[in-house]
Amino acid sequence: MKFTGTHRVKAIESLLPLAQKLRVWASKDEGTSAWEVVLSSGSFLLVLSPEVHRGFSGEGQLLEELARAPEESVIAQIRAQLAWGAHISTDDVSKKLGMETRVVEDVIAVLSTRGLAGYDAISENYFHRELPFDLSKVEAMQPRLKGARRLVDEKGVQINGGGVFLVRGTGTIHQVKLDDDGKGQCTCPWYSKHQGNRGPCKHILAAQITQETDA
Ligand SMILES: [Zn+2]
Repeated sequence: MKFTGTHRVKAIESLLPLAQKLRVWASKDEGTSAWEVVLSSGSFLLVLSPEVHRGFSGEGQLLEELARAPEESVIAQIRAQLAWGAHISTDDVSKKLGMETRVVEDVIAVLSTRGLAGYDAISENYFHRELPFDLSKVEAMQPRLKGARRLVDEKGVQINGGGVFLVRGTGTIHQVKLDDDGKGQCTCPWYSKHQGNRGPCKHILAAQITQETDA
């Protein structure tokens, strides 16, 4: 495993005398590691990205959920269902509100970027908590999403039929193909380089937003 910025592990140092166990997970390909300090009353999990200046591989995938996010009234309805639950079941929420599970999942992703839902990697569940600062602007600060919304606003996306979209790039036109699940591929150099490993490029996001508003 490639692992840089080892000084970051020091964050768990003061917990170690209290620990019953230390468990370490690592992703061979991505270089992401997770350090779980098991205490008598619970666990503390430190997850480290591959390099100090980088986020987590795949966290860009969250941009797709943000791009598809429904209107605020729907978000508010789902937020009201969280009720400080230690385990949020997307199935239960979707049944209760009569909404598609996918919509509920997208909204919980939005709520997590707003600091209103945490993800417990050990039990693989979302839970309700509220971080003590205003994160409602996080979405607006995502540069890729911002770029995608601008492309849509400036009519830089043309629907070509068959899931193909022509999206304006710098001095060229990129071709985006969305499959039936809404996942995309793009002809731009950034996408060719990362092949979706860092989430969608802004052209794919722009095509997804266009498809969503056109539907
Ligand atoms: Zn692209």
